[in-house]
Amino acid sequence: MDEKAPILSLPSEPRSFGFFVEGAWLDAGDRKIMERESPAHEVPVTRIPLCTAADLDRAVTAARAAFEDRRWSGLSGAERAAVLSKAAAGIRARVDELAYWETLENGKPIAQSRGEVEGAAGIYDYAAGAARMLHGDTFNNLGDKMLGLVTREPIGVVGLITPWNFPFFILSERVPFVLAAGCTIVAKPSEFTSATSLIMADILADAGLPAGVYNVVPGLGAEVGQAMTEHADIDMVSFTGSSRVGRSAIQAASGNFKKLGLELGGKNPQIVFADADLDDAADGVAFGLAFNTGQCCVSGSRLVVEASIADDFTARLSEKLAKVRVGDPLDPATQVGAITTDAQNATILDYIAAGQAAGATLVTGGASIDRGKGRFIAPTLFAGVTRDMTIAREEIFGPVLSVFPFATPDEAIAIANDTNYGLAASIWTKDIDKAIQTSRRVQAGRVWVNCTITGGPELPIGGFKQSGWGRETGIYGVEEYTQIKSVHIELGKRDPWIA
Ligand code: NAD
Repeated sequence: MDEKAPILSLPSEPRSFGFFVEGAWLDAGDRKIMERESPAHEVPVTRIPLCTAADLDRAVTAARAAFEDRRWSGLSGAERAAVLSKAAAGIRARVDELAYWETLENGKPIAQSRGEVEGAAGIYDYAAGAARMLHGDTFNNLGDKMLGLVTREPIGVVGLITPWNFPFFILSERVPFVLAAGCTIVAKPSEFTSATSLIMADILADAGLPAGVYNVVPGLGAEVGQAMTEHADIDMVSFTGSSRVGRSAIQAASGNFKKLGLELGGKNPQIVFADADLDDAADGVAFGLAFNTGQCCVSGSRLVVEASIADDFTARLSEKLAKVRVGDPLDPATQVGAITTDAQNATILDYIAAGQAAGATLVTGGASIDRGKGRFIAPTLFAGVTRDMTIAREEIFGPVLSVFPFATPDEAIAIANDTNYGLAASIWTKDIDKAIQTSRRVQAGRVWVNCTITGGPELPIGGFKQSGWGRETGIYGVEEYTQIKSVHIELGKRDPWIA
């Protein structure tokens, strides 16, 4: 972070986008326009067409044609890798632009947006390698007359539905892997944050991606998203968003039995043992709570802390949280920006009120921060929370943490696993046995030991229980976008059936 860098200025007028199908930009025409206001500044920043189900059909037709004529899937892994590497360079060349529009639409700090965009470029680099590594298997043990091959084939046309919390990063945890596998894409970003998914269309085209392989149809979830999950000519949908909509996607996808990847919500424990480096742990828990204003699927929203240190640790944590720089996301020194949508802001404040009404003790935060304009909420800590309270059970998707003291490791595990979700968990201890034993027993797709919300594209991400189906990123992530074919090859003259 460059704390002396100047605060960026707002755009003089909103940037208008079309939508992208078959390698060409299409004008909004008479479609409704979503005029998006910056959540921090309350000025219009982008104008995005709200596409229709007919627009989606057009994009699916383009993606289907591009898939069937093998203009992309027929290329070698090396050729696909070359495009993905160029896309990585293309992202790096446009970091400032991508980060700026991401911050304006989402409200996250500009330094964070830059980090996410640079990280996204690295994911394309990794996926370029994965395109060349993808392989099947052989069975040479079937006797002299038979050879067995297991081949991986791209699954086909993939629909991507993404949320507003990490618009570009989540897109980039999907697109290069889908492309590495040889599939074609129709993307529907969140209606609140479409700009960077649209800009990516130019970057991919400039990198040499053939027309029709990456199409973007911005629009409302209830219209374009719903039509996408129902669409008979889409082979797989990767949906990232709430468990509520994920559940409805399961029903919608049943029409043509399309495969679904689901990356859903979380209620993630931060388990702190008394033998942890408590300063590190407090810093990490503060980060896990306040990063992206808690609007992270993997946000650490339940502090499960050893009873002997609970009071001391809570006090340390409050001190840390008081120092978090919440403010203008266009200021490079800001650590936490604005709440992305009005509805989310209201939801978080409702949960805070529900915690107080249920008798939980507010330790710090608990209110909006008035900056004249924009929606900001102070990182909030509740003690005295019982496991049946709403704030203990539901995903808040905001900077609100509940504290649960535990007496024994078994109790820590019981509290940590007492949720329908299973996305992520963090463990803080200097005892290697405790760290490994706890990581084995905690029900979560991602476990962090003495760290939180970190990692790279090498390791897969995804959830246990109601946090989702399937995995994204890593070689596992590419494989999700393939299907397996078994090939039996008989050698020489057949043993006759009819004499
Ligand atoms: P959301 O479920 O409201 O929306 C997600 C996407 O689905 C958006 O593009 C939206 O337009 C679309 N959508 C809405 N209704 C739809 C429908 N009926 N059919 C198909 N698509 C529809 O979620 P959100 O508010 O954008 O994001 C917050 C949620 O996302 C949180 O629950 C969070 O935990 C989850 N999330 C999960 C991960 C993960 O990797 N597990 C990552 C980020 C966010």
